[in-house]
Amino acid sequence: MTDTSRVFQLARRPDGAPRPDDFKLAEVPLPALGPDQVKVRNTFLSVDPYMRLPMTTLEGVHAPTDIGGEMDGGAVGEVIESTSGAMPKGSFVFSPLMGWRDLYVAGASSLVPIDPELAPLSAYLGVLGLSGMTAYAGMEYVLKPKAGETIFVSAAAGAVGMVVCQLASNHGCRVIGSTGDPRKAALLKERFGAEATINYRTEDLRASLKQFTPDGLDMYFDNVGGSHLEAALDSMKVHGRMALCGAVELYNSANYRRGPGNFFAAIEKGVTLTGFNIGLYAAQRAEMMRDLAGQLVSGALHGDETIVDGLENTGKAFVDLLAGANVGKMVVRL
Ligand code: NDP
Repeated sequence: MTDTSRVFQLARRPDGAPRPDDFKLAEVPLPALGPDQVKVRNTFLSVDPYMRLPMTTLEGVHAPTDIGGEMDGGAVGEVIESTSGAMPKGSFVFSPLMGWRDLYVAGASSLVPIDPELAPLSAYLGVLGLSGMTAYAGMEYVLKPKAGETIFVSAAAGAVGMVVCQLASNHGCRVIGSTGDPRKAALLKERFGAEATINYRTEDLRASLKQFTPDGLDMYFDNVGGSHLEAALDSMKVHGRMALCGAVELYNSANYRRGPGNFFAAIEKGVTLTGFNIGLYAAQRAEMMRDLAGQLVSGALHGDETIVDGLENTGKAFVDLLAGANVGKMVVRL
């Protein structure tokens, strides 16, 4: 009898905000195991804003997914069959690509072993996964914060943002976070180290930012792009630093690759804008993991999650993520 996997396919390209029926759950046969291969049953799937990018026809790091093509993304799971001595049955693994499905067969070398004793499995998609490492790389390698500096963080209560806020606060920085949700604003202050918050849905972002930072911003960690990036550019100090991480405000628009309208302010103020992505920091993975895990275990870092149950709800979880339904990392539990 052939094993099958249930996997989401792209049913059509979303027009603006995605909808759950832009994705279709299909059943596909699984190949038999070859040498050094494993069969994995996923336990948690990641949904991330970047997944919106290959749903467009724009070329970039994330090449467009064909209509009917399988969705991919991060996942953690358990090895249930193995021909690999290094990754026996019963091991737990992270895959950067084999999300949006329940079962898969892959080469053992394409997977990363994870330790379920150190942290819950879902943490390897969040605070100890690509989100946490993205926050870490942007803070420790790009912005290099100093105590007493002021930082503005956008999408501050999300998977990357909550870690950025806490790392900055642990460095002794003054943290201002933006969110579109008062419940998240309260958490930012109570739990994630923010001194002040701005609700970009109900407030004038530019005016509030200027009000909180009359002397200007030393740093901006940009998860949102668009109007947030423009407001931050207006509020930067001379020689301020920006870590350009993502542009979620633009992901549902016709061209997510466009830049800010007031770019010239960077020239006038001598602002350093450093774009980065976590793929560029593979060599630092062990160092990032060690430091993040140390802070998590010591209680210096919280790794909040929003958990959605059921493979069949993965498309809806992704839709809800872009609409702001998550606090911390959004994951799907199988
Ligand atoms: P989040 O957990 O932050 O989820 C997305 C959040 O974005 C929502 O919860 C919502 O929060 C906010 N949001 C949605 N639409 C808007 C909008 N129009 N304006 C402002 N905020 C909005 O996701 P991640 O932490 O995974 O990702 C954050 C950013 O980091 C994304 O841009 C992503 O692409 C980027 N990223 C980049 C990586 C890299 O290597 N460079 C790696 C990982 C992520 P709210 O309710 O507050 O509006």
